[in-house]
Amino acid sequence: MQSEVAAHGSGAMIVEGAPGTGKSAALDQRFAALVETGTAPSSIAVVSVSRLSAGTHRRAIEQRVSGPYEELVVETWSGLCERLLRRWPVEAGLDPDFAVAGPAERLAMLLVRFEELPLRNHEIRGNPTGLMRRLLAEIDLEKAELGDRGGSAAFAGDPVRRSEFEQLVAFHDRMLSELGCLDSNDLSRLAGELLASSGTVREAAAGDWPHLLVDEAERLTPVMATVLEGLRDGATSLVAAIDPASGDDPARALARLEAALPGADRIRLDRAWRLGSEQIDIARAVVGGRARGGAADTPGAGTAADADSWQPGGEGGCEIRYWRSETAQAEAQGVAREIEHLVAEGTAPDSIAVAVSDPDRDGQLVASAIEDRGVATAVTGGSALFRVPEVRDTIAWLRALSDPADGGAVTRALTRPPIQLRSVDLAQLTVIARRRKLDLVSASEAALESPRISPESRERLDSFLSLYRAAAGALDAHRPDAFVRRLIERIGFRRQGMFAARPETAERLLALSRLAEIATDWCRREPNGSTRDFTAFVSALAETGLEPSSGPRIPTAGKVRVVAWDGVRGGSWRRVYMLGLERAGDTQRPAVAAAVTSAGEAVVLSRVGADDAGAGRSGPQEDAFSAAVAIEEVHQEELFGPAEDLHSTYRMMREEVLEASWRVGRELIEPRLDTPTDLNRAITRYLELLKLAALAQRGGERLDSDAIDAVNGLLGQVATPEQLDELERSTLDPYLLANERERDLRQELIDSRSEPSLAAFLPKRGGDLRLSASDLELYLTCPLKYKFARVFGIPRTPTINQRFGILIHNVLHRFHDPKTTPPGAGLEELMSMLEAGWRRSGFGDSNDELQFRDRAVSAMETYWLNEKQSSQEPLWLERQFEFRIGPHYLRGRVDRVDRREDGSYEVIDYKTGQRVESGRHGGDIQLALYRLGAREAWDVEIESGSYYYVLEGEKVEVESGADDRERVERTALEVGEGILGQDFEPRPSPAVCGWCDFRMVCPASEA
Ligand code: SF4
Repeated sequence: MQSEVAAHGSGAMIVEGAPGTGKSAALDQRFAALVETGTAPSSIAVVSVSRLSAGTHRRAIEQRVSGPYEELVVETWSGLCERLLRRWPVEAGLDPDFAVAGPAERLAMLLVRFEELPLRNHEIRGNPTGLMRRLLAEIDLEKAELGDRGGSAAFAGDPVRRSEFEQLVAFHDRMLSELGCLDSNDLSRLAGELLASSGTVREAAAGDWPHLLVDEAERLTPVMATVLEGLRDGATSLVAAIDPASGDDPARALARLEAALPGADRIRLDRAWRLGSEQIDIARAVVGGRARGGAADTPGAGTAADADSWQPGGEGGCEIRYWRSETAQAEAQGVAREIEHLVAEGTAPDSIAVAVSDPDRDGQLVASAIEDRGVATAVTGGSALFRVPEVRDTIAWLRALSDPADGGAVTRALTRPPIQLRSVDLAQLTVIARRRKLDLVSASEAALESPRISPESRERLDSFLSLYRAAAGALDAHRPDAFVRRLIERIGFRRQGMFAARPETAERLLALSRLAEIATDWCRREPNGSTRDFTAFVSALAETGLEPSSGPRIPTAGKVRVVAWDGVRGGSWRRVYMLGLERAGDTQRPAVAAAVTSAGEAVVLSRVGADDAGAGRSGPQEDAFSAAVAIEEVHQEELFGPAEDLHSTYRMMREEVLEASWRVGRELIEPRLDTPTDLNRAITRYLELLKLAALAQRGGERLDSDAIDAVNGLLGQVATPEQLDELERSTLDPYLLANERERDLRQELIDSRSEPSLAAFLPKRGGDLRLSASDLELYLTCPLKYKFARVFGIPRTPTINQRFGILIHNVLHRFHDPKTTPPGAGLEELMSMLEAGWRRSGFGDSNDELQFRDRAVSAMETYWLNEKQSSQEPLWLERQFEFRIGPHYLRGRVDRVDRREDGSYEVIDYKTGQRVESGRHGGDIQLALYRLGAREAWDVEIESGSYYYVLEGEKVEVESGADDRERVERTALEVGEGILGQDFEPRPSPAVCGWCDFRMVCPASEA
């Protein structure tokens, strides 16, 4: 069948086939066949939807076509349309220098203009990035469908928000047009219009590419279809491949393709040559699950997923395994362990895909686990560039120069190379800043006079200030791109990395070049923009979590690819790991089915959870599992032990042994006097590698000289006297034992918590530590965050959510306080307090602020009604306590204590954020601490406690438990011990780091 595609003559052909039936290979085969019959390679255009698929075609064609050629035209639709428009800009009505803006750049442009956007009726909640990312996806969908989305249009059921969305689309397009930019949909639309309106262009395009090969037509959008129609008429041949079971709406895509290529020959590829029957059954079960749960015309039903149209052709197909891990960490460790072994056995890292729900949020955990084992990874997603420490340093300097009050940015500039201020001096600096109400730059000047700053740190502050002053003086004197380049040179990032010829260094330098390219592209779009404007843009760009389109991409060859679930499609993989599938829903079914059918050797479908398989859940992983005869492999988290050190030494040495064998091999051809010595050395290194392999596999117990001697004894039986000599001279054994001792020392250091340097900056009363409920929460969430906030006290600008919380607390306090409010005050008084507080708190009339105001008004109405119906009265407001637990002071301020009708009391804490699981550290701490505080400090027994979610108008009671006291004491003692021992190990997690105010300065968030 594939040969029929290759041999197809002129005219159009539609090739249908389920995954694995060889559609893409048939297109590549056709390319080679056309070249063999004399067609020039540059006159065949191959077009795909995804960059991944285009890249796979390019590599396959490069292998098949060995002869010389002018160029290979293998493009995405956007790439092909850009080629057309760059060639005929005048005919398309465009400025020849038009720029193309990718999603990341457009999102950043919108974020910078956020205040101007018509978003009064879309909930912002203090963080516009998530909302704008969703809205931009809707804008792209709207434009891809050429505005004809019918009932599925965004916000179709809500006329107010629909109208606002239409205004937003218009704003987006106006903004791009003013900046001389096009997005990918504009490229396709304008290219389609150009082809439709100009016979000359059509003819010329047909002359350039008389043969067209189109892949992934199941993802063909209406706007792409207009280009296809324009190219169709003059083309000698046009072959399009479609998988009618995949894509978001494959039935519509097939109809679209048929309309674009009327009268095309049809061919259906039924035999999935790569796939075995189990793979097909499972993929069918995954896609069919959606058909069962969805509407009658749901994709997957009655299409290529039918039994007769998807026949196994492979011998056995690939292995499909099911994993359940107790935690995401355990899942990442399991993948990393397996990949390390695979790579050691010869599997190419870039033939392995690890797919996660969101590479920016979840990818780093698994990438770090794999890299810890010495295997390089490439995480697709926008934050990869902005996780490179030197890129973050440059942005920190830009932000610090634009706004010296940006505490996080100035802290990063002070603590990273080339300044590297010590922790204790940073702590001293923040004390000076707080006491004198200065920003950190001015505090650095003041600190030069402080006797508490060591001479060495004074020098560091001096160099910081001279760098800062010089750069600040040049900030407005240069174009932003020139300034960024000079800043990179001036700070010396390139010089610092110049001598380390390692791949990571090359990647970091490349990342810095890419940042400079982003600045150049920005200057082209905004020729009158200042460096401060560019700083706002690049900060927003870093926030988007999307991949910027400017500059050279960091090479991914030789690296395990960490991609989104959907990013597996279009690639050619030996192994695919689909992780976190407990979160996958119906919309992810095509991606899971694509993973099952795209791997040549094995697919792992993995979920995180505590319950056994088949425990009543539903989703693509469960459907796959129930269609298979398999067991779930269970993975548990492992603590790192001595074997990990040995593994990493083994990996390092493996490289050395391979290099040495190559060198000595050359000497064997051209012998020298000392060749026998070199040969013995190389063999000795290999014997040592064997020693490491033996020790690493010995089990988890401590490494000691007895264990090493035992292996040495066996090696001694096979080694020659010369090799034994070499072994004796080797420093490997002392190195391993020293490593072990160092690990013991590290452990001792942690155990004794002996580092004294920050002791003076810990929050204390007298000589004892002071802890509040929020301190406990903060430390338990992330000890490093506690250090930044409470020990260093890095200045932060309060977020709108924080300011709003303070306002609501103040208004409710005033309302219940008899000193400020007469008895019998009602809703009117409450509202006027809100009004006055709103003005005093400096809120403005941005969409976000007005939405907060709407929520506050309705929350106060509900609050008032609830209070009216309540039979209890506030007795104390914002009452404080402080008491001892062991060696520490515990303190707090209770928002409100009520006396109930029966004479009992209730502590109440107002919450203005979203509801969170209060017991995530093993039970509620805050209310238990308040009750304990009331007993100890006020001598009042309180049994009840509630969180009052003011915005939701709901009071949630948290029952007291018999173990409250014991739990609070245990937590306070543990946290206190950690703080006094200065154990501030970061505890990064996507959910917490995403909202952390210290991301800019935190080294763990770039791991
Ligand atoms: S960014 Fe993450 S790891 Fe770093 S301090 Fe904040 S919460 Fe901790």
